[in-house]
Amino acid sequence: MTSRRICDVAVVGAGMVGAALALDLARRGFEVALIESRAPAPWRAEDEVDLRVVALAASSIGLLERLDVWPSIASARASAYRRMRVWDALTPGSLGFDAADEGASALGYIVENKLIQSALWQAVERQSAIDLRCPARVVATEIVAAGAADARVASPESRLLSFDDGTQLKARLVVAADGADSALRGLLGIAAHDRDYAQRGIVAHVSHERAHEATAWQRFLPRATLAFLPLADGRSSIVWSAPNAEAARLLALDDAAFRAELGAAFDFRLGAITAATPRAAFPLRMRLADRYIAPRFALVGDAAHVVHPLAGQGVNLGFRDVAELAGVLSEARERKADFAAETNLRRYERRRRSDNAISARAFDAIQRGFGSDASAIAALRGAGLALVDRIAPLKRFFAHRAAG
Ligand SMILES: Cc1cc2nc3c(=O)[nH]c(=O)nc-3n(C[C@H](O)[C@H](O)[C@H](O)COP(=O)(O)OP(=O)(O)OC[C@H]3O[C@@H](n4cnc5c(N)ncnc54)[C@H](O)[C@@H]3O)c2cc1C
Repeated sequence: MTSRRICDVAVVGAGMVGAALALDLARRGFEVALIESRAPAPWRAEDEVDLRVVALAASSIGLLERLDVWPSIASARASAYRRMRVWDALTPGSLGFDAADEGASALGYIVENKLIQSALWQAVERQSAIDLRCPARVVATEIVAAGAADARVASPESRLLSFDDGTQLKARLVVAADGADSALRGLLGIAAHDRDYAQRGIVAHVSHERAHEATAWQRFLPRATLAFLPLADGRSSIVWSAPNAEAARLLALDDAAFRAELGAAFDFRLGAITAATPRAAFPLRMRLADRYIAPRFALVGDAAHVVHPLAGQGVNLGFRDVAELAGVLSEARERKADFAAETNLRRYERRRRSDNAISARAFDAIQRGFGSDASAIAALRGAGLALVDRIAPLKRFFAHRAAG
C-alpha cells in the first residue's frame, strides 16, 4: 500500500544524527518521515550511567541548543570538560587545552548516547510535522514520477521507499542516517572504503583515587591509546583502543588485574583505579563512502563516514552534516528551487565530504604515528606535541578544529 501523500524528506535511521536531522528539518517547515527499525530504550535517571558516551564539541552543543533539546540533556546528566591533556608514554612531549584560554566555560560535554537519542526522540514525538514510523525497515527504493500530488514544489520525480511489511512511502528526498552498516547505502550501490584497524575499543566506567578535574585525558601508548573522560559523578569513562589480541587479553582479565593494568597504563595520573564496571568492546575501523549523494538521496552521519574514536569526533562530524544539509535544503526552498535537485545536494556533498575525509585521515595518521613504538617516530611525535603546545596559533588551530 502506498500512502497518497508525498513527504518532503524521509530520514531513515533515528539514531542521534537521523533524529537531529528530522527535528531540524521539521522546525524549518519541511514535512518529514522518520523511519527507525527499533525504538530506542528510554533513558532513566535511576539507571547506571550507560557505557556508551560521547564527547560533544561546542558545535554539537550549538546544534542541540538550536533544536531546544540541550536544556533537558544538560539538566539530566552531562559532564562539562574544561581541560584536555594529551601525552605520550614513550616521549616527554605533551599538549594541553584549557577552556579558559578560549574564553569559554567548557571545551565540551560528556553525555550518554542513549540520553541524547532519547531527548531527540521525545522532541520528535512532540513534532506534528514528523511522521515517525517505528518499527519499520526499508527493503527497496527507486525513483518514480512525482505525480499530481507534488504541485507545491517543482520536482519532476521523487523516491519511493518499500518497507518489509509491504507498505510504501514517497519522498522528494531520502536521507540515510542508518549507521555504519547502512543498508540504504548498499541499496543505492554506493561503495565505501574501509580500513580495519584490527583494534577494539574497550569501554568501562572507573573510579580513581584522585579527582578528574573536569579534564579529558588521552595517553598514547605503544600500539594503543587510552582516554579518560570525566563523568558527572566523579568517575571517568575510559576508551582503551588496543590491537585485537591485546584487547582480548585485557577483556579476559579479572577485575583486580584489569584495574591494576589500567592504572599503570594511565601512568597513575589519577592514582590507583579503585573500582570498574563490567567492560564492553567495539571493533574499530575507518569507513568512508565514495559519494554522499545519488538521485534524490543523501548520506549523513556514520552511514557516510566512520572514524577512529581517538579524537572523539564521530557524532560531532555527523551533527555538522545535519546542520549543513538542513541549511542547504532550506536555502533552496526559500529560493523556491527544487531542494532535492542534484545541483543542490552537490553543495552539501562538496562542503561535508572533504571536511569529513580530512578529519578521518588526520585521525588515521595520528593513530598510525602514535601506534608505532619505533624510536624515531616516537621522538618525532613527542617533538610534535611539544611544538603544538608551545606555538599559540597552531594550538588555537587544533583547539578550534576540536571544537568544530
Ligand atoms: C568506542 C567508541 C567511542 C566513541 N566515542 C565518541 C566520542 O567521544 N565522540 C563522538 O563524537 N563520537 C564517538 N564515537 C562515534 C559515535 O558513537 C558515532 O559516530 C555515532 O553513534 C553515530 O551516530 P549515527 O546516528 O550516525 O548512527 P547510529 O548510532 O548507528 O544510528 C543508526 C540508527 O539507524 C537505525 N537503523 C539501522 N538500520 C536501519 C534500517 N535499515 N532501517 C531503519 N533504521 C535503521 C538504527 O537502529 C539506529 O537507531 C565513538 C564510537 C565508538 C565505537
